[in-house]
Amino acid sequence: MLLITQLTAKTKKQNRMKKEISRKEAKEQIDIFFGKEKFSEKEVKKIKTLAMKFNIKLSEYRKKFCKKCLTKLNGKIRIGRNYKTVECGHCRYRNRFKMN
Ligand SMILES: [Zn+2]
Repeated sequence: MLLITQLTAKTKKQNRMKKEISRKEAKEQIDIFFGKEKFSEKEVKKIKTLAMKFNIKLSEYRKKFCKKCLTKLNGKIRIGRNYKTVECGHCRYRNRFKMN
């Protein structure tokens, strides 16, 4: 509840300054973002906030960055029975993804 209140307060403040974007535009921005070769931790944070604001599921894109340090995921991959584990080359955190 607190989070929602904070988010609305923030949106109200930004309304005057920034041009509001639609959900479709937000989705496009996310698609473009993850199509890039490189991205930084800061950019991932921004994109995550954007996705949250519009309730957009990152689904497949979640596998592109480390859950812990948010840098581009790029490391050892281990495949288990139900999970795929990707060790982050940056912070060594093991990211687990459910296999479909
Ligand atoms: Zn990491």
